[in-house]
Amino acid sequence: IFGEQRLNSQGINIEIESEWSPFSASVKAFADTQWQAGPIINGKVRTETEGKIYAVTAPYDRNENVGNVAFANADNVVEAIDVAAQAYPEWSQRPATERAQCLMRLADLLEENTGELVALCHREAGKTIQDSIDEIREAVDFCRFYADQAATEFVQPKTLTAFDGTTQQLSYQGRGVFACISPWNFPLAIFLGQVSAALAAGNTVVAKPAEQTSLIAFRAIEMMLEAGVPAGAIQFVPGTGQEVGAPLTSDLRIAGVAFTGSTETAQRINRNLAARDCEPVPFIAETGGQNAMIVDSTALPEQVVRDVVRSAFASAGQRCSALRVLFVQQDIADRIVGLIKGAMAELSVGRPELHSTDVGPVIDAAARDKLLTHIQSLKNQASLVAQAKLDASCQAGDFVAPTAFEIPSIDVLKNENFGPVLHIVRFKASELDQVIDQINNTGFGLTLGVHSRNERTYSHIERRARVGNCYINRDQVGAVVGVQPFGGQGLSGTGPKAGGPHYLYRFTQDVVKA
Ligand code: GLU
Repeated sequence: IFGEQRLNSQGINIEIESEWSPFSASVKAFADTQWQAGPIINGKVRTETEGKIYAVTAPYDRNENVGNVAFANADNVVEAIDVAAQAYPEWSQRPATERAQCLMRLADLLEENTGELVALCHREAGKTIQDSIDEIREAVDFCRFYADQAATEFVQPKTLTAFDGTTQQLSYQGRGVFACISPWNFPLAIFLGQVSAALAAGNTVVAKPAEQTSLIAFRAIEMMLEAGVPAGAIQFVPGTGQEVGAPLTSDLRIAGVAFTGSTETAQRINRNLAARDCEPVPFIAETGGQNAMIVDSTALPEQVVRDVVRSAFASAGQRCSALRVLFVQQDIADRIVGLIKGAMAELSVGRPELHSTDVGPVIDAAARDKLLTHIQSLKNQASLVAQAKLDASCQAGDFVAPTAFEIPSIDVLKNENFGPVLHIVRFKASELDQVIDQINNTGFGLTLGVHSRNERTYSHIERRARVGNCYINRDQVGAVVGVQPFGGQGLSGTGPKAGGPHYLYRFTQDVVKA
């Protein structure tokens, strides 16, 4: 139902048999694989640690074992930082082209292993096959994009010429040991996006994946080592925020943090960094949103509904960019709401390995319970528009039926609801500015969708709204590396945008020789 966009560097269309058949065998080969992972410190895998063993089961079927992860403990974190700190001088002094070559080789290895990574992505994170393919594709794009930028912009110093003809040299260096802390919703793409940027810029890295998706991150680090990244430059410490994240972001030797996840966790990391009695360091945070779409009466209803359904329900709504609140001008609201109901009746929710599945499970039982509590509470205070059907196979996993409500105002929503729940608010034409202000007043500022054929209206909305990514007459998810740099404002993050021209620079320090 969601269609497909092929703007990235590679892709397989699962709807085309000649593309799908050979690829599908390479995914199926990993249908029963049990992966094992643990911390990787100085190139050595530690499967026996003091930390806990985390048993990974598939989000769509909790009886399906996917593997085990030995979590790191606080001592492992200290050891990992020791190794990364020692490796920093050598790695940072390598020419940027050499660092970039390792990341280019990694991108090739990811492509060569796409079958395994797709299988791992959908079995560990519960993503649909199409989402899993897109995930690997985005990870490859991030590695190549940052490698290419480092190899072109960080090799020679820039020459700056003064009014009297004297020249000075501006060069870029790494900062030291970067902590990269990534989320489960893009377990390979965001994980590798952060790590490859930090490495390309000349830092060494201690990487902590989300605890739910450590297996795919572990495989990525193995491939990174195979690609030639030195064992000292990349350390891998899977585990919980409390056991691993807290000691990592409190350590005085951490020279910067890249984080994607919830606003609350970003605030906690910020406090940890601020409490350190040492120099302030860059904190690159990409966090949540209360993303809206504004639809006026000139919009094309069929196009609106296609883009609403994809923006709200693709990836089970588990994207920071996903649509949460749809504002529809009263004059066409009945028609739009009617079409949304119809489209939601067509959504197929179920096991993510089936081609026919549009919406797979959410990440875990805690996420499901939180979303179900929200849905239950809205059933008492709002009007239910539609709820998709769950089939019998959904009993085995953590599924939430895509649900849409009409609510009186965005103020009803106190938090981001990270899943397939859409909230619809009707507005009068005269209230447009109030609507934009209400969206701004949430404090978040990640994505905004606008559907209007009136140029004055969409230009006005775009100017007045405070968001990082504004999408006009299209869906609002699936930003493409290098083409749609992604990241928000306010409670949604610090910037710079991932996959954009300025991201890499935040991982560096620039030095002038005059
Ligand atoms: N870049 C993704 C998108 O455009 C979202 C990233 C996220 O969820 O953190 O949909």
